[in-house]
Amino acid sequence: MSKVLGGCSVLNAMLYVRGNRKDYDEWEQLGNPGWDYKSVLPYFKKSEDIRIEELKNSPYHNTGGHLTVEHFRYRTPITNYLIKAGQDMGYDIVDINGPTQTGFTFSQATIRNGLRCSTAKAFLRSASKRTNLHVSVLSTAEKILVRIGDVQFRVGSKLHKVNANREIILSAGAIQSPQLLMVSGIGPKDHLKEMGIPLVQDAPGVGENLQDHVIIGGMNYLIDPPKDCMNNEPFTFNLLQTITPYTITEFAVNHTGTLYSMPYCEAMGFINSKYADESADYPDLHIALASTGDHMGGGVFMKRPGKEIIPYADAYGAISYLLRPRSKGYIKLRSRNVHRHPIIVANYFQDPHDLNVLQLNARADLNSIPQCLSLPFPSDDYWRCYVRFYSMSIFHQSGTCKMGPAADPMAVVDSRLKVYGISGLRVVDASIMPNIVSGNTNAPTIMIAEKAADMITKEWKMC
Ligand SMILES: Cc1cc2nc3c(=O)[nH]c(=O)nc-3n(C[C@H](O)[C@H](O)[C@H](O)COP(=O)(O)OP(=O)(O)OC[C@H]3O[C@@H](n4cnc5c(N)ncnc54)[C@H](O)[C@@H]3O)c2cc1C
Repeated sequence: MSKVLGGCSVLNAMLYVRGNRKDYDEWEQLGNPGWDYKSVLPYFKKSEDIRIEELKNSPYHNTGGHLTVEHFRYRTPITNYLIKAGQDMGYDIVDINGPTQTGFTFSQATIRNGLRCSTAKAFLRSASKRTNLHVSVLSTAEKILVRIGDVQFRVGSKLHKVNANREIILSAGAIQSPQLLMVSGIGPKDHLKEMGIPLVQDAPGVGENLQDHVIIGGMNYLIDPPKDCMNNEPFTFNLLQTITPYTITEFAVNHTGTLYSMPYCEAMGFINSKYADESADYPDLHIALASTGDHMGGGVFMKRPGKEIIPYADAYGAISYLLRPRSKGYIKLRSRNVHRHPIIVANYFQDPHDLNVLQLNARADLNSIPQCLSLPFPSDDYWRCYVRFYSMSIFHQSGTCKMGPAADPMAVVDSRLKVYGISGLRVVDASIMPNIVSGNTNAPTIMIAEKAADMITKEWKMC
């Protein structure tokens, strides 16, 4: 999705979340040997360099890997209150990447010395001196010529081909990996015929099974900062106080201050809706605790009609993610030309269960949605309308080249991530997830890459 070395890890919210152990146990039960939690944990740990003091000796974490994980350097004072509120609700403070996911925590993040640690910074920079690594930037892969093992790519107006002696690894993400497979003739045969693309391999699952975490915004709570907490420090991430010449200098010169925070998720909770089994440690909601409200930015962030009437106020927000959506979408080609964006049909809320789980019975934000005013407030119908109106993607698209056993006709890759029916081609990215994980998708994608690297190295060493 992101046209940059390192992909979305260069611009994501940096939250380091692995998901729930049951997600991976389920992947294995679906017919993918070696993908249960016990088997994937070492690959999460392999890349990790945990710099959070109290987690350094945890058996769930590791030091010395390429990917540094820290807490955000700056914590807005209100965040301590938000964590306390989680405790008041009966939840513990936990390491959400440790033995128990249910609970609250200050966010763990892929950062190094307070600043973003993208996959490019973590992995490519450290490998940049290797003589067997060649990176072609400003390039677009246009086609995989599977029969001869070539990849055709364009740099500016110039077309190039590169031949793979051993194999091709496709890692274009959950939107573009299926797109590139389809333009190369690997995909649902009827769709390829409709697009006039010669069929190389009928693969009905390519582009199907699109899953994402849909969120609801707009859950904002206005507050009056406590008088004894003021001492010149902004209590919330109020733009007028947090982005000033002083804070910019603090950031640039002293490497401290409010700009080292991540206002949309300084802390988080994994909690149970009334549909979840509380005894199972398998929460179905993720709450991102924000030290600002999403319409407090005077229209700078997340502008929504009818929701801009209290800009620059002190507020906090609670952004709920639906962790295990039942609704599934798909990706289809708009054109045979890879430079034209594919059609993305997200299908959020196709299954009414998804709407019910997100429909929290929250009350604080009386800044109601004009489109829902015909419905009684507060009522289930009002909140269903609210969720439909104020929902958005949190950009965790996955599942569109799903991994599965040979007996599953919708599986695109096997448990070694090899594309069925094609030799010398693997997919290694978020698209291979059979089911989306119960958490943000960057760390799981890095785990997938670590495991793939291990499988590939072992296989070629044996030859
Ligand atoms: C705004 C945003 C916020 C997010 N926040 C978080 C977060 O806080 N925590 C978290 O865990 N996850 C987050 N995510 C999701 C997470 O970053 C992704 O799940 C993860 O990066 C997926 O990795 P990927 O390798 O599958 O795909 P991508 O990161 O999309 O990488 C694919 C790469 O392939 C390249 N590419 C695609 N097509 C071609 C082509 N034809 N030729 C050449 N190159 C191509 C792209 O340019 C890109 O560099 C966020 C995502 C976004 C967009």
